[in-house]
Amino acid sequence: MKLTILGYWGGYPAPDSATSAYMLEKDDFTLLIDAGSGSLSKLQNTKHVMDLDAVILSHYHHDHVADIGVLQYAWLVQSYIRESNDILPIYGHTEDQEGFKSLTHKNTEGIAYNPAAVLEIGPFSITFLKTDHPVPCYGMRITDGETTLVYTADTAFKAEWYDFAKDADFLITDCNFYEDQDGSAAGHMTSKEGAMIADKANVGKLILSHLPQYRNNNDLVKEAEQYFHGSIELAAEGLVWQKS
Ligand code: ZN
Repeated sequence: MKLTILGYWGGYPAPDSATSAYMLEKDDFTLLIDAGSGSLSKLQNTKHVMDLDAVILSHYHHDHVADIGVLQYAWLVQSYIRESNDILPIYGHTEDQEGFKSLTHKNTEGIAYNPAAVLEIGPFSITFLKTDHPVPCYGMRITDGETTLVYTADTAFKAEWYDFAKDADFLITDCNFYEDQDGSAAGHMTSKEGAMIADKANVGKLILSHLPQYRNNNDLVKEAEQYFHGSIELAAEGLVWQKS
């Protein structure tokens, strides 16, 4: 599998940037994980909007779903241009009915995932962990049988992540706070907490994401290095990771 970061800001995007959005490819299948503000624009640096095969959403906060509406318009416009009626599946949970209903449009269909079951989408098998966040949100463990990616989505720290992320090749953590802060009330993690999960779970690479708009984000890496001695990277747009 090939992972490309399209957007990584928490809350709102920096200039010419995007909030949470990750593209996962395997063979000819392309899955978009979350669709934050600016992500449709970033996607088109390497893909056509119609190249998407499926979208999956962790939760319905704006910084994770802001571009769903324009993605629906893109597929509608393309249906006229191409004289086709392709439907894009958008997977979401149903604990927010209004959010879930908004996924269905003329050329998109909202599909409920059952967080207690394994979800198969194309070549990917996905399991879920409910996060600690002000609204219902699910982290995901995604494998193609060879490589495993764990995405915490938005979450305060909890020990369940140790098992859920066990031996993953890539771990993308919510790193919205610096080590000296407490993100638990906001439902987010610090650099230290993400690194503790990476260490205990023995992951191949830690990717710090959902980054804050203040201070120097490179300090998040320095902080994380105190607690995890493997590979750590700061999320950046267009960055691509493949297991070597
Ligand atoms: Zn959120």
